[in-house]
Amino acid sequence: MVLLLFGPPGCGKGTQARLISNTYHVPSISTGEMLRAELKAGTELGKMAQSIMVGGGLVSDDIVNEMLAGRISRPDCAEGFLLDGYPRTVEQAEYLDALLSKRGLPNAIVLHLDVPEDALIGRMTSRRQCPKCSRIYNLLHQPPKNAGVCDDDGTALITRKDDREDVFRERLRTYDEVTRPVLAHYHDHEYYQIRGDRSPSYIFEAVTGILEKVMNGRTLVN
Ligand code: AMP
Repeated sequence: MVLLLFGPPGCGKGTQARLISNTYHVPSISTGEMLRAELKAGTELGKMAQSIMVGGGLVSDDIVNEMLAGRISRPDCAEGFLLDGYPRTVEQAEYLDALLSKRGLPNAIVLHLDVPEDALIGRMTSRRQCPKCSRIYNLLHQPPKNAGVCDDDGTALITRKDDREDVFRERLRTYDEVTRPVLAHYHDHEYYQIRGDRSPSYIFEAVTGILEKVMNGRTLVN
C-alpha cells in the first residue's frame, strides 16, 4: 500500500505520519525531513536547499524526485510506504506515478487533511519540534510531558526557522499556488478528505477508519 498524506503546511501531516507508521508498520518518508537531514550533515544539497526552505519556496523537482527515488528503492519500502510532503508539484506527482508503475507498486491512496488557513496560522506559532527524532509538538494542544524537552529522547525542542509567521505565510502561498493543484491530478485515484481542524487523536480515528476499510476491501478482492 502506498499512502500519500496531502495538505497545507501545519495541517498535522507529520503527527499523523508518525501515528500511521507506528500503528501499521509502514516506513514514513518526509522529503522535508530528508532535506533537513542534508542541512544538518552540511552537504552541498543541504546548503542549497536551506536558502529555499527559509524563504518558504520549493526545492527543485529534479532534486526532490531523485532523493525520493533513492529512498523508496531501499528494501523497507518494497511492500509500500507513506509519503508526507511529497508530491508538492504536478511534475512530482507524474514522476511518482511512473516510479510506482516501474516498481510494480499500486497507485497511491490519497489522504487529504483539510484545514482552514486561519487555524493553520494559529497552530504554527505554538509548534515545536525535536531536532533529534523530528517529533512534533504543539504547546497548546499536544505539549511535551516535561516543558521544552522531547518525550522520547529528552532533547531540547526547537522552533523551525520556516515556522516564523512571515515564512509560514509564504509557505501557505506556495501551497495554494503550486501544491493544491496537484489534487486535480489524483481525481481518478482513491481519494479521502479528512477534516484536519480537530485533535490529532480524532483525526487518527478517521484515518484508521479509512485504512481498515481499504485493507478489508483489498483482502476481499485478493
Ligand atoms: P516540510 O517539512 O514538508 O514542511 O518541508 C519543509 C520545506 O522543505 C518545504 O517548505 C520546502 O521548501 C522543502 N520541501 C519539502 N518537500 C518538498 C517537495 N516535495 N518539493 C519541494 N520542496 C520540498
